[in-house]
Amino acid sequence: MSIKKEPQTINEQSPSDLLHKLKGAEQRLADSQHLHNALIESIGDGLIIVNEYGVINEINKAALDMLGYDREEMIGEWLPRALPSKDKDGNDLPPTERPSLKSLITGHPETAITTYTRKDGSNFPVSGTAAPLMVEGKPKGSIIVFRDFSREVLVERAKNEFVSLASHQLRTPITSILLYIGLIKYDEKGLSAEIKDYLKRIEMSAQSMQQLVGDFLNISSLELGGVEARPIPIDLIELINDQISEIIGLAADAGVKISFSEPKEPATVSTDPALLGQAIHNIMTNAIRYKATSAAEIKIKIKKQPQNYVITVADNGIGIPEDSQHKIFQRLYRADNAVKQHTQGTGLGLYLVKKIVETLGGKIWFESQENVGTTFFIQLPKNRFKLPVIESMQR
Ligand code: ADP
Repeated sequence: MSIKKEPQTINEQSPSDLLHKLKGAEQRLADSQHLHNALIESIGDGLIIVNEYGVINEINKAALDMLGYDREEMIGEWLPRALPSKDKDGNDLPPTERPSLKSLITGHPETAITTYTRKDGSNFPVSGTAAPLMVEGKPKGSIIVFRDFSREVLVERAKNEFVSLASHQLRTPITSILLYIGLIKYDEKGLSAEIKDYLKRIEMSAQSMQQLVGDFLNISSLELGGVEARPIPIDLIELINDQISEIIGLAADAGVKISFSEPKEPATVSTDPALLGQAIHNIMTNAIRYKATSAAEIKIKIKKQPQNYVITVADNGIGIPEDSQHKIFQRLYRADNAVKQHTQGTGLGLYLVKKIVETLGGKIWFESQENVGTTFFIQLPKNRFKLPVIESMQR
């Protein structure tokens, strides 16, 4: 006969059993605490954990080394006060714009390149991601992982300086090639048809080289911060009409109709007309290049929002294939259908447009369907720049 043993209740356990179990639990707790600390310390990147109010609960050695603080100086402090952060233009980031607090608000990971200030007051660029710590579906804190981005910034700067220098040096010989081609063409009566054809091809190649070098120069200048945005109050309607008159000949040659629904009231913004003009020009020339085979048209509109204006440029052209859409603003990227339609492109125009629009404090996006058409949207703040102070761009 077997005797069924009932589970022991605490009351039935001897004091020595209880003590033994308590010690075991204590040991396991200590082990897990050691493991937790070892995990945090073994991460080579800086790591900070804040609670739901943004107060620092944890910070690892890598973070302390980068920032020059002792642990005691950071634990229990409010992150935005303990660790000031600036955006890429050198402006203080408001607490709600910091990835750590943003991730608490949105409940999603937030990534950004910002600047941290060390204890000694010096600044350094960091690339960081803050992910919310979710407990029962609610953000109860945020874990921030960051690394020093100085090296990448230096490499990027050196690369841009090289591109800028090379483009400058290339501009003069290309201009002379085009000048001499022009001189030969001026008096081309004695030339055979074959030579004329060769000349035409040389001219086209030199023109695309000139375009490429110009784009490289513009991009590297923007990225190096060598371009100063010169905001003045302008009427968007006038600026768009100026841009239309610049490309109307090109559009007519290509058989593209352009229409602009002008708003009744002036659309005044404080922005840099040269930079914005260049962005709109690029979008419009793309709409002509990637036009429909018949009844091609471009429709331009301005929509008013409380804080912004949105310029839309819609075409009924070849469209952007769905699998290319996420790459369209990348440097040098061209979709296959675009390469077929226009072999000479550089894939730099939209990259430049995005840089310009961001420099002007705006946003750019598009909607597109292959063989139906593409609409680009440029959203501009009405008053990003406070006149008369001229802000220089720091990139
Ligand atoms: P490029 O026109 O020299 O190729 P861009 O940077 O201006 O370079 O444009 C990048 C790519 O975006 C183009 O190659 C094309 O694939 C796509 N694209 C841009 N605008 C349009 C448009 N209006 N319609 C269709 N595709 C477009």
